[in-house]
Amino acid sequence: MPQINDNYLKLKAGYLFPEIGRRVTAFCQENPTAKVIRLGIGDVTEPLPPAIIDAMHKAVDEMARRETFRGYGPEQGYDFLRNAIVEHDFKARGCDIAADEVFVSDGSKCDTGNILDIFGLKNTVAMQDPVYPVYVDTNVMAGRTGAADAQGRYEGLTYLPCTAENDFTPSLPTKPVDLIYLCYPNNPTGAVATRETLTKWVDYAKQTGAVILFDAAYEAFITDPSLPHSIYEIPGARDVAIEFRSFSKNAGFTGTRCAFTVVPKTVMAKTADGAQQAIHPIWNRRHTTKFNGVSYIVQRGAEAVYSPAGKQQCADLVKFYLENAQILQHGLESVGISVYGGVNAPYIWLKTPDNKTSWDFFDYLLKNAHLVGTPGSGFGASGEGYFRLSAFNSRANVEEAVVRIKTLLGRLIA
Ligand code: PLP
Repeated sequence: MPQINDNYLKLKAGYLFPEIGRRVTAFCQENPTAKVIRLGIGDVTEPLPPAIIDAMHKAVDEMARRETFRGYGPEQGYDFLRNAIVEHDFKARGCDIAADEVFVSDGSKCDTGNILDIFGLKNTVAMQDPVYPVYVDTNVMAGRTGAADAQGRYEGLTYLPCTAENDFTPSLPTKPVDLIYLCYPNNPTGAVATRETLTKWVDYAKQTGAVILFDAAYEAFITDPSLPHSIYEIPGARDVAIEFRSFSKNAGFTGTRCAFTVVPKTVMAKTADGAQQAIHPIWNRRHTTKFNGVSYIVQRGAEAVYSPAGKQQCADLVKFYLENAQILQHGLESVGISVYGGVNAPYIWLKTPDNKTSWDFFDYLLKNAHLVGTPGSGFGASGEGYFRLSAFNSRANVEEAVVRIKTLLGRLIA
């Protein structure tokens, strides 16, 4: 009988979203007429922009003819997409990134988990708390942690608390770490990083030899023109940072699947005997061995994100969700709730009223307003007492949610 990877048994009972799903299903079974509005999972609701659909239709037609049919493509992505990414996401913002440093994939969730394959188990890891749960769980699966404590903090990970007290901007680690996850704009808090904040982290990584794993899945939601969109806008970052990007939220690709990881050739790690080793060829080897590329049709769709029409349509999509965020923010503030995020991010992060725990507030909102959000404590111990609402929804649902919030919470707080 084979032995299981015991590290999986250290994972907390359920990933956050299945637990939410269980509670919502149970509620709906008991209350079949309730019109539940889901502002929990950060999944997009609006259809793909027409420029992307047109490009994918054309690609489907190409697949129907012998002369233009494509089989396996390059594992790292087609040149047409890698070149468009470099041109529009990096060169346009003054970042020195080459097309062969871009690895196209089917999602940032997989990329942020898979990147751990190429790092030794002895590396120490720091991450923001609260945090996108995938960073924590994939480190647990890899065997880089001990057991979790009562608050869900795993032994062996360095947590960088982000709360209203520090403006959701974590301090540098007090003990040395090898890998640092940073997510900006942040899921779940909606916080963004200024140029100064990112410079602090890049300088820290340069001084200590750490590598930054920078997740910029929500960069399209940055509205403040002074804020950096990529960590490579910071001098020196291409020596110390890997960046993850996704088409899921800027272009509505959550179900279509396309993303990319940037691994500059200048980012270094060390071998067991202390020699310097570039990360790029190791990641290239991993990617080409374990991944066979994103479908041609989807990559043509992703390329269209950068066409003039595609850019405009994606910007409109982002604007629509940000308007939803504003509607939620104003509605919550009007009944005295402390609200964060929502300006440069599609998430509203709120302080639970009446000192309720995050899960108590989840149950309270579901039972009394038939609204589903995400308990802050599910993202980490420092998220306790907070709650996340997602702006990814139809306008009608968001407006209805605000009416229900005002009725229920206005009464609670009054
Ligand atoms: N990174 C963050 C911070 C996210 O919130 C998400 C999805 O919600 C992802 C990555 C996953 O993106 P993808 O759909 O590309 O797998």
